[in-house]
Amino acid sequence: MNKSLNYYAFLPKSISSLQVLYKAAIRRRCPQIMVTAALNSLSMPPPVPSPSSRRVAVIGAGAAGLVAARELRREGHEVVVFEKNNQVGGIWVYTPDSEPDPMSLDPTRKLVHTSLYASLRTNLPRESMGFQEYPFTPRPDEGETRDPRRFPGHREVLLYLQDYAREFGVEEMVRFEREVVRVSFTAEGRNWEVRSRSCKSGDGGGGELDDENYDAVVVCNGHYTEPRVAEIPDSWRGKQMHSHNYRTPEPFQDQVVVVIGGHASAADISREIALVAKEVHLASWSVADETYGKMPAYHNIYQHSMIESAHEDGSLSFRNGEVVLADIILHCTGYKYRFPFLDTHSIVTVDDNRVGPLYKQVFPPKLAPWLSFVGLPWKVIPFPLFELQSKWIAGALSGRITLPSKEEMTEDVKAYYQELEASNIPKRYTHCLDLDQFEYNDWLAAQCGSSGSEQWRKKMYVATRENRKLRPETYREEWGDHDSVSEAYKDFSRY
Ligand SMILES: Cc1cc2nc3c(=O)[nH]c(=O)nc-3n(C[C@H](O)[C@H](O)[C@H](O)COP(=O)(O)OP(=O)(O)OC[C@H]3O[C@@H](n4cnc5c(N)ncnc54)[C@H](O)[C@@H]3O)c2cc1C
Repeated sequence: MNKSLNYYAFLPKSISSLQVLYKAAIRRRCPQIMVTAALNSLSMPPPVPSPSSRRVAVIGAGAAGLVAARELRREGHEVVVFEKNNQVGGIWVYTPDSEPDPMSLDPTRKLVHTSLYASLRTNLPRESMGFQEYPFTPRPDEGETRDPRRFPGHREVLLYLQDYAREFGVEEMVRFEREVVRVSFTAEGRNWEVRSRSCKSGDGGGGELDDENYDAVVVCNGHYTEPRVAEIPDSWRGKQMHSHNYRTPEPFQDQVVVVIGGHASAADISREIALVAKEVHLASWSVADETYGKMPAYHNIYQHSMIESAHEDGSLSFRNGEVVLADIILHCTGYKYRFPFLDTHSIVTVDDNRVGPLYKQVFPPKLAPWLSFVGLPWKVIPFPLFELQSKWIAGALSGRITLPSKEEMTEDVKAYYQELEASNIPKRYTHCLDLDQFEYNDWLAAQCGSSGSEQWRKKMYVATRENRKLRPETYREEWGDHDSVSEAYKDFSRY
């Protein structure tokens, strides 16, 4: 029996209209910059005697939590970082373990935070990827444990984040193996109650609880752990898995695999699986319906448009009319924002992957500056963006930076959402910035009195984006833009 598939949404053919809108939104509604610090200071000042020091809880010690903790303390705040793992690094802490439920749908499953696979290398050049004030340069003096490549393996990123934490004394602020299970207003409504639970191995999930009050909470819990999946009818009896649980290609030996997804991880994983699988069929929303063909240079990877229907005999029909008898569907379909610990009385919600309402991706107007989010934007260079968001939050909490009124922030958010909706841009693209990240970063930098996006970083991002499209197999090995690299290293010499 054929059943039509009900996919969760359509993918816009191009997100450039979103970019244009975002740019306009930033330009038009950019509030007065109310900072006292000098605009062009390239290095941050030493710890400023803060007008007001706050007690701040940071949730998560991944890249976002580490830089948030550093910037908050630098501003004079008292910081506690809660981290459920036993080390810093977040998603970059690779483990060969995956979740027992390959689709990660069982709400009672044992969660595995990371979504990295064993062979993963960065999809950005390291020079562009690092924090502005702590460049991600090779460390050949540390021997073979380090990976000097421009697009290094995932372990090199973890080592870099560990170096960062050590360099700035962040680890001493972290309470490891403590999971935040609830964040809510205190009864008096003046501050936040943070409930955490010990999750030391051996606690068996029943670790002791602790309640503490904080002036402010900065949420840095990451958003690559809770899978989004395409709906495949139950009548299809084959195996299914989400890329969150993909680690190595061996389990796909001699299988016919259908990979759903149009982004970088789908392309990388397909190529890796094709080395052992019988056939790999890549199904994507972002290509024309009639698309069908063998991928150049591969004898067993086929590009298709999206799956149209699934059948009880194990076959899948694509919109291009092709039918494939598949052993397994691998969903490389992205992730959902999730804040299971956060109780804001519905002031902040997640609706079709829009976390909102949030002023400039960070502050819920009604709760600003006491609740904030670092790291929501995607399709960006994450670390430097996190760094600027963190500086803004730190300054807003101390009173050094003045935010617009709650009403102005609310109006700003409303107008932006209306523009997205008027242009038929789905809510789930609210946090997708792509090329607009640079204007966004510059805007944040202006609020903070820091320097914005460097020209060389923009150029490296744009070049990588192009190279990845044109030469997906080899873009990591060939780098032509030596001018940007030498500009970057000139900048790095200041740190
Ligand atoms: C497959 C893949 C490839 C990527 N490749 C690149 C790349 O090449 N370059 C790049 O710059 N970025 C890449 N990224 C993006 C990457 O996610 C970001 O660079 C960044 O590391 C995210 O940092 P984060 O701190 O926001 O989240 P995470 O790294 O996920 O850290 C969140 C932390 O919060 C902790 N936590 C969560 N909930 C709780 C709780 N309730 N209590 C206590 N602790 C909690 C977690 O244990 C974790 O340590 C990639 C992402 C994926 C999924």
